[in-house]
Amino acid sequence: MTATLDWLGCATFRLTIGNLVVFLDAYIDRVPSAQPTGITIDEITRADWIVIGHSHFDHLYGAERIARTTGATIIGSYETVRIMEAQGVPAEQLLPVAGGEKIRLSSEVSVSVYPSQHSCVWSQSPMPAADQVCLGELGVTYQEQQERLKALWARLGSLSDEVVAHLKAAAQGARGDGGALLYLFETPAGSLLYQDTSGYWSGILQNLRPDVAILAAAGRGNIDGEPVQGSLAQFVARQATLLRPRRVVLSHHDDWLPGFSRAIDTGPIREELARWAPRTTLIEMGYLQAYPVFAGL
Ligand SMILES: [Zn+2]
Repeated sequence: MTATLDWLGCATFRLTIGNLVVFLDAYIDRVPSAQPTGITIDEITRADWIVIGHSHFDHLYGAERIARTTGATIIGSYETVRIMEAQGVPAEQLLPVAGGEKIRLSSEVSVSVYPSQHSCVWSQSPMPAADQVCLGELGVTYQEQQERLKALWARLGSLSDEVVAHLKAAAQGARGDGGALLYLFETPAGSLLYQDTSGYWSGILQNLRPDVAILAAAGRGNIDGEPVQGSLAQFVARQATLLRPRRVVLSHHDDWLPGFSRAIDTGPIREELARWAPRTTLIEMGYLQAYPVFAGL
């Protein structure tokens, strides 16, 4: 059974295992100034499942259309499910999860869900470079984070007309991130961990052993609710030491919203991985490459 992974930009992937098609996030139609990925949401005609890491638009916007076109079932947080229901997705195509569930996707493939953490978006603006060491900002309360986020939203509103129009179209009324989730796919060919924002609970990660890990590389990492003391590259490498995967595939590291995001230089991540997790190979994937994710493992 072959399994292939297509990167569709930002943190969105299409995982094809035999006849089974699973979308990991669903943000495909983005601003025209972002590099084209070679596919639009109108071209998606096949999907069995859509798993959503969290409820922000750059992950969830589009899931409602894929669900409508294909009949796929959406797996996501209760907030994701609330938004999708408000967007007209029938309840029988919605599976709310909070972590702790194991869902059968086909006779041979299942996915387990784990609670996770969102990156510290409140911490740095603009987003730090991969090798930029960020320190401090420990113990910042939820209320203080919300105050800081207001400045971020104001900055988004001052970006180009094109971005502002896109943000308006993609606004689905999410109340925050809805609680970030991790997904661990088990297939006959291997296991795959999916993360769509740079955060984790160390107590959870250290007990998972995926063959391949998709790890988000954007913003200031979040470890157990506090911002990483170090660089994004070190944050990714630390996760590799906990998970010990054979391969790491990056997500969320392209310039998905020009003016706000930045194309993450993968060089420092490669260096830190070589130092801390020398047995893990970093896979650098272009868009739509149908990468044979477990081949040769
Ligand atoms: Zn997010």
